[in-house]
Amino acid sequence: MPDAIERKRAFETYQTTVSLTESLTPHVKRIHFQLPAGATMTFRAGQFVQIFVPTADKPRRTSYSIASPPYESTFFELCVTLVDGGVSSTFLHNLKVGDSVQAMGPLGRFTLPDPLPRDIVFIATGSGIAPFRSMILDLVHRNAPQKISLVFGNRFDNDILYKTEWEELERQNTSFRKRFTLSRPHETWTGKKGYVQDALADFISSPAEKDYYICGLVKMIDGVAEKLQQMGVPKEQIHFERFD
Ligand SMILES: Cc1cc2nc3c(=O)[nH]c(=O)nc-3n(C[C@H](O)[C@H](O)[C@H](O)COP(=O)(O)OP(=O)(O)OC[C@H]3O[C@@H](n4cnc5c(N)ncnc54)[C@H](O)[C@@H]3O)c2cc1C
Repeated sequence: MPDAIERKRAFETYQTTVSLTESLTPHVKRIHFQLPAGATMTFRAGQFVQIFVPTADKPRRTSYSIASPPYESTFFELCVTLVDGGVSSTFLHNLKVGDSVQAMGPLGRFTLPDPLPRDIVFIATGSGIAPFRSMILDLVHRNAPQKISLVFGNRFDNDILYKTEWEELERQNTSFRKRFTLSRPHETWTGKKGYVQDALADFISSPAEKDYYICGLVKMIDGVAEKLQQMGVPKEQIHFERFD
């Protein structure tokens, strides 16, 4: 049972300042939110924050997974997909360096056990990669002995968020493997084609011996979870975070 201090810390609010905003694709931006001077945020990889989005009425609170690792504690990164007509994602995409934004966090229980009981497979589409960037950078930073695989599904080659970072990480760490699959590849794509759920059997050996973490929209999560169970993975080894 968390004591009063822990409960207060879990729901702390911060007046942050936007310190970086960068388009990763035409529809996705990474944004850095700097905490006030001297402040730090202690969080576990996989947790999320809520952004207070100003509206004509009272602010609207919207959840976004922290995409930066916990060892970066003076700022956090969000990776935000612009949703057509979406109130909060439009607000975030319009932010400029120097803007002030209120945020609350950290929140959520989509985190990893420590130590990891098994090798681990992360499965994401689009900005569902956000919590896994935090988790993977953290695991690599801590030299976790388990094998880490990332199965990342997108439509086009240039939709692959943080692509060069995954490639570099794989080059530097024998324990990390990235697997990309594209549902609408250009002719020049020589990698895997199709939806993530259809690529799993080719990408994963001894499926029942691993733990699975899935993040994205519910339709993808349902498809992947069903496929994993058909491949013999016990339900208890499948964990997910829904964005919708
Ligand atoms: C725990 C958690 C973590 C999240 N982390 C991230 C993250 O890291 N990055 C990120 O981009 N999003 C993330 N989301 C989704 C985010 O909270 C918002 O739902 C999303 O940005 C849309 O909000 P909006 O205000 O722009 O759209 P709204 O104004 O709420 O909705 C506009 C329209 O878009 C539809 N819609 C709502 N959400 C989505 C969606 N995700 N995709 C497609 N259509 C949608 C609605 O049905 C509606 O028709 C997360 C959600 C949760 C619950």
